Amino acid sequence: MKDENCIFCKIAAGEIPSATLYEDEDFRVILDLNPASKGHALILPKEHYRNLYDLDDELASKVLVVAKKMVNRLRDVLGCSGYNIVQNNEGVAGQSVFHFHMHLIPRYEGDNVGIGWKLGTLTEEDKAEILNKLK
Ligand code: 5GP
Ligand code: ZN
Repeated sequence: MKDENCIFCKIAAGEIPSATLYEDEDFRVILDLNPASKGHALILPKEHYRNLYDLDDELASKVLVVAKKMVNRLRDVLGCSGYNIVQNNEGVAGQSVFHFHMHLIPRYEGDNVGIGWKLGTLTEEDKAEILNKLK
């Protein structure tokens, strides 16, 4: 399924040109237009899914295989020292384009890429509540 108002559907289909690093029948991997670091790439499925909540099970398993292939190849090409894999779901979590995508963000010594969070403390109350609700 495609969404005719979705820019990533058009990019994934090749209707809008992009710097494509890899393509197969299910995915296109492109360079991000506003990279967090040199080589920041996005894995886009060719079909439209809003985000991980909706992603087809088979594609969900395939996307990590593509991510693995890409970071192994790109770490040699880019000479980076590490990788962050980021995948945002819904606006509150930073999603700005509502077509599932996975960020591959190369990390270099001394870069100022700001991915992080303040460490909290797991309370007994939260732990009990979550485990109980999942039963
Ligand atoms: P999100 O915030 O939804 O997780 O990530 C969206 C990403 O898509 C951003 O990093 C943004 O720079 C990138 N992006 C948005 N529009 C385009 C585009 O037209 N082409 C490319 N290559 N990247 C885009
Ligand atoms: Zn789309």
